[in-house]
Amino acid sequence: MASITLKNVIKRYGSGKTANQVIHGVNAEIADGEFIVIVGPSGCGKSTLLRMVAGLEEISAGDISIGSRVVNDLEPSERDIAMVFQNYALYPHMSVFDNMAYGLKIAKVPLDEIKTRVDKAAKILEIGPFLQRKPRELSGGQRQRVAMGRAIVRQPQVFLFDEPLSNLDAKLRAQTRLEIQKLHRELGITSLFVTHDQVEAMTLAQRMIVMNAGVMEQFGTPEEVYTRP
Ligand code: ADP
Ligand code: ADP
Repeated sequence: MASITLKNVIKRYGSGKTANQVIHGVNAEIADGEFIVIVGPSGCGKSTLLRMVAGLEEISAGDISIGSRVVNDLEPSERDIAMVFQNYALYPHMSVFDNMAYGLKIAKVPLDEIKTRVDKAAKILEIGPFLQRKPRELSGGQRQRVAMGRAIVRQPQVFLFDEPLSNLDAKLRAQTRLEIQKLHRELGITSLFVTHDQVEAMTLAQRMIVMNAGVMEQFGTPEEVYTRP
């Protein structure tokens, strides 16, 4: 687990006259183990902010720290983060086990340890019976759980969720939301969760960052955010 600090974080796309600033100096301190939801309308910069924390997008100015380390110049693989995407991004030709194990194999984690971690994650997510199946043999909800499993086995300090529920139907969305809450209760990993859905934000967030047009307009508990005039 780790804290996350955003210090006057700015993002511009392009340069010179055509430069377009899309994140305008965001400051936030996120504590160890907090579940933070970044919410706001399409195009407000949620995904850009998350991708900068992940290292998938360079920051134009400011500092991002994870724990006590400034991570501005670190590759995604050096940041101790794991990301869950909307489109699952599973490898279609690999079994569920291999999908979950892939990153660990690359990182040269011993096979015994990989099996232990995959089994533990599979148990938490209740996907044990599907470990030998291919992604196409799973339902959307099961695939999403595999995507989360793949993130868990990395034992990251931080989870980054990029609208992971938006491709699911209403029933599955509610179910997966409960699973994410359970996961956070059990593992307590500092989490940043991006969504444009206010209900989702309110149900999941311990605190929420409300973005609008690249500006952080509010940062507080759902109660604080929704009782503010
Ligand atoms: P959100 O996730 O809230 O929908 P984004 O972070 O995707 O918003 O986008 C914020 C703004 O940055 C938008 O105006 C978008 O058009 C712009 N943007 C996103 N990615 C790029 C890019 N690669 N190049 C130029 N502009 C981009
Ligand atoms: P693209 O979106 O360009 O297809 P990917 O999303 O596959 O690329 O990966 C982009 C970068 O993000 C790569 O450097 C990869 O190592 C990293 N990455 C991919 N998946 C994860 C993950 N679950 N957790 C952390 N980093 C990841």
